[in-house]
Amino acid sequence: SDARLSDYERISVLGHGNGGTVYKARHRRSSQPLALKVFAAGDLSAAREAEILMLAADAPHVVRLHAVIPPASSPAAASAAVAGGEAPAALALELMPGGSLAGLLRQLGRPMGERPIAAVARQALLGLAALHALRVVHRDLKPSNLLVGAGGEVKIADFGAGKVLRRRLDPCASYVGTAAYMSPERFDPEAYSGDYDPYAADVWSLGVAILELYLGHFPLLPEGQRPDWAALMCAICFGEAPEPPAAASEEFRDFVARCLEKKAGQRASVAELLEHPFVAERDAAAAQQALAALVAEAEQGDGDL
Ligand code: ATP
Ligand code: MG
Repeated sequence: SDARLSDYERISVLGHGNGGTVYKARHRRSSQPLALKVFAAGDLSAAREAEILMLAADAPHVVRLHAVIPPASSPAAASAAVAGGEAPAALALELMPGGSLAGLLRQLGRPMGERPIAAVARQALLGLAALHALRVVHRDLKPSNLLVGAGGEVKIADFGAGKVLRRRLDPCASYVGTAAYMSPERFDPEAYSGDYDPYAADVWSLGVAILELYLGHFPLLPEGQRPDWAALMCAICFGEAPEPPAAASEEFRDFVARCLEKKAGQRASVAELLEHPFVAERDAAAAQQALAALVAEAEQGDGDL
């Protein structure tokens, strides 16, 4: 496309990350609200993210890509683009008004209940099913990379660590993504892989993420402990898999246990989890309503500030 950065008016900052800065923006000509993810010059994760978002253009639980914005044609930007292999300068994305689940948790100031979490789990699984069918592994699933709409829709975002598996058993144990949500087999493939399944790593991360929503804090380390790399690796590889407290429902406890099976070969697949009673289809509408109510509550709280 011939989209340019100057076609967009930046309104506010939605988030900062390794990849760059995400702005709430407006397409000047059409007035359409958007999220504009602006990358550092030559950032190769921008090209990867654009490729995967185009591949997944029809997946309903993956954030929509509206436009890929190439580097500006100033001499400095052009040389950076060449050095970086023509990485795009920015991506115009569908704006998700509820922000990320990490932000929602922060705004609420308390853990989420099982109902809205079921809406997150079901929709994230549907997103993963579509991605995995396209041979895409996300590799960085976590609350800050799951976005919410005003109606409780959940979409997977941030493919800066994603990968398209060209060969069936493409090794995928490299340390990309956030260590905190990494599965045991990505640290130690020999001990935990079993029949190596690169897609199982995304299921582990989803399990950690939804347990975090339930507890209100990262579940693998004692609350408040700084998540340094060594402590995380120890907790993930040598510790017991974390589990929801006894007060949680049997369905939720079992669902999390099936995600956080330490051996990748024994972990539930996305297809199996979509059949799990915790995410039963007949409860999906009510669960999504419960999540929408939390989004409305968080927005209300923001207005009061
Ligand atoms: P990180 O390195 O922290 O994972 P990143 O630089 O790769 O982040 P993203 O994860 O894509 O960038 O976005 C960072 C944050 O910006 C998200 O956590 C979310 O809060 C916000 N954000 C991103 N995309 C959107 C969107 N389409 N709509 C609303 N908010 C968004
Ligand atoms: Mg992110």
